[in-house]
Amino acid sequence: LRDVENWIEIKSARANNLKKIDVRFPVGRFSVITGISGSGKSTLMHDVILPTVRESLGSARVPRAGEGILPSRTSQLRLWPKDSRKEKSSLPQNAATSTLQACAPQIAAVYEVDQSPIGKTSRSTPGTYVKVFDEIRNLYAQLPVSRVRGYSASRFSFNAEGGRCETCKGQGVIKLEMNFLPSSYVPCEDCRGRRYNPQTLEVLYNEKSIGDVMEMTIEEGAQFFSAHPKIARTLSLLVDTGLGYLKLGQPSPTLSGGEAQRLKLVTQLKRGVNRAADERIRKMRKPGSTLYLLEEPTIGLHMADIELLLNVLHRLVDEGNTVIVIEHNLSVIAEADYIVDLGPEAGDAGGEIVACGTPEQVAKNRVSRTAPFLRKVLKAPRVL
Ligand SMILES: [Zn+2]
Repeated sequence: LRDVENWIEIKSARANNLKKIDVRFPVGRFSVITGISGSGKSTLMHDVILPTVRESLGSARVPRAGEGILPSRTSQLRLWPKDSRKEKSSLPQNAATSTLQACAPQIAAVYEVDQSPIGKTSRSTPGTYVKVFDEIRNLYAQLPVSRVRGYSASRFSFNAEGGRCETCKGQGVIKLEMNFLPSSYVPCEDCRGRRYNPQTLEVLYNEKSIGDVMEMTIEEGAQFFSAHPKIARTLSLLVDTGLGYLKLGQPSPTLSGGEAQRLKLVTQLKRGVNRAADERIRKMRKPGSTLYLLEEPTIGLHMADIELLLNVLHRLVDEGNTVIVIEHNLSVIAEADYIVDLGPEAGDAGGEIVACGTPEQVAKNRVSRTAPFLRKVLKAPRVL
């Protein structure tokens, strides 16, 4: 950590049971907040870090024309709605006060990434979510047949009239409403689940129609579109992060929480790659660091999924972003660059920083409730 130049530094943070703590996190690194349940971890993340960093973003940076402080797709990454969030703690709510001492100017935006679904209908698919489907539609619109027939990119959208099957309105399925029974879905008989009308499906690229593409897995798609870097690059990124088995046209609501979470993070990676390229050309300097906040991201995940999640988080950090997670999973804690351990106990007996530093440093602490477990993990052969 010696080579960390910038820190997010917060002084005298007071909220719920937090007792005027001074806390800091390294910019461009992977930090984990640990501590027993009720020690103040959520309060630190939701009531201190997020509002403080956001406030400093608002005051320190006035967005120039055409440049927002937050990337545009915030609605799909739940940003904490300050008023609607249910207070977890039953402790008397003290006014949350803290002063941000030195929020590194490198922090350009702040996000929470959770496991909530990324779409409620089959109109959203992994392909549409990461925007790669737009590129694929453009490709189909540029084919000679499309030009002759006057098909534009929107012709190849299953969410717009023109190219889609109108019987199922591009959903590929028909909803059956039955009295006294939960509604169910059956494949559309007209398009046989392919979402498009026959004329649209006549347009072929390498002998495949847009309907065939929807049936491809992401991994197959990366191969199929290898001659088109813009498409292939995004799909390869999804393959790298273990999502290659998903179908391009798979309805988003069928994704698991862990899959949805990874897809959101990969979308951030893709944005980072593009933005880095843009900014380097424009300003010849390193792009700003985005701060990602995740609360117990490994809940409900299998070991293999945890490993994939960690890979994505490490990649975000490698690109200069800052990641802070609340976590109980020791495999994740052991991988941190920096740990802030809260406690020592819950409620009024907690809310203080017990230890902070690298996993090795925190493991040596004699008061920390996390340290004994961490010592075991660090001694044992690596689990991941
Ligand atoms: Zn149909």
